[in-house]
Amino acid sequence: MRRETDGSAAAGGAAGGEPPAVSIVVPVFNEAAGLARFDARLAAACDRLDRSAEVVYVDDGSRDGSLEILTAITARDPRVLVVALARNVGQHAAVLAGFAHARGDVVVTIDADLQNPPEEIPRLLAEIDAGYDVVGTRRAARVDPFSRRVLSATVSRLASRAVGVPMTDCGSMLRAYRRSVVDAVVQLADRALFIPALAAWVAARPTEIAITHGPRVAGRSRYSPLRFMRLGFDLMTGFSLLPIQLVSLAGIGVSLVGTGFGIYLLFRRLVLGPESEGLFTLFAILFVFLGLLIFAVGLVGEYVGRIYAEVRRRPSYVVRAVYGASRARSAPDAAQEPACPSS
Ligand code: UDP
Ligand code: MG
Repeated sequence: MRRETDGSAAAGGAAGGEPPAVSIVVPVFNEAAGLARFDARLAAACDRLDRSAEVVYVDDGSRDGSLEILTAITARDPRVLVVALARNVGQHAAVLAGFAHARGDVVVTIDADLQNPPEEIPRLLAEIDAGYDVVGTRRAARVDPFSRRVLSATVSRLASRAVGVPMTDCGSMLRAYRRSVVDAVVQLADRALFIPALAAWVAARPTEIAITHGPRVAGRSRYSPLRFMRLGFDLMTGFSLLPIQLVSLAGIGVSLVGTGFGIYLLFRRLVLGPESEGLFTLFAILFVFLGLLIFAVGLVGEYVGRIYAEVRRRPSYVVRAVYGASRARSAPDAAQEPACPSS
């Protein structure tokens, strides 16, 4: 729904020029400290491209003045569009908002912290030119803490399993997508918000290349371990029914074990007579089953919550304003976006 209104807004503003060949979508959350350096490098990389480009910064509800820096950039660079979201919705929803505003035949996503070098963009475009419709990346010699790399690898494995497409490093967000994939992702995105997995799901010819990876230019990762695990869980439940099916299987397994144990206890009692430590064994077993049960209820809750969110048609993001390029002037986009239902 919101996408169609957006489309017409974009068309209205197309008076400002032909759609560019490439849109570079950059999610930004509290990146004020390094943003100017990032923009300088990205702008230089865009200058060197062999085709026209626009940059779509999505301010994901930053509270550190990032938005002011971005609007200042729009004043001097006509290629730049800034989509300001009303609140922080997370990296993937922010990228989705960028997708909805991007006009390029190819859309490249990149992080704003310079961990992904903008100089790698031409290599991604070369793969698109070679006929692939999604270009994923692997971070060679990734510069992140060990615990984070282990978590990431787990999530990538789960994602590959859930989506049914092999992805070595789906957390690597320097990626390129063809217009057809971008449109499909925008349409599908309510199912589960993990852009690389969604894109892999609709891609006809995906490929993957190795890229270099650097340290953050400023600040710390915006993902806490808890937030990151939430993303992994979201990904699993959003793409498959496997978790809930596993719980059903576990339920059957547990009942079988319980029955076996009951028979064993009866046998022991008949042969050896009553014993005292049996009570504690029972407690231990009870806790294991209770834990499983609570986990199962939580899992069911996760799916019910998803159905609820779907029924409410809660938007994954709300645009407050759009700045820069020719389009912003013609389109009071914020008014065209659906209002967030009171929550
Ligand atoms: N980001 C965002 N919204 C969020 C968290 C992160 O838009 O809620 C952006 C962030 O500004 C950066 C990118 O997503 O441009 C990647 O975030 P980060 O560097 O924290 O992730 P990591 O590199 O640790 O995976
Ligand atoms: Mg980063």
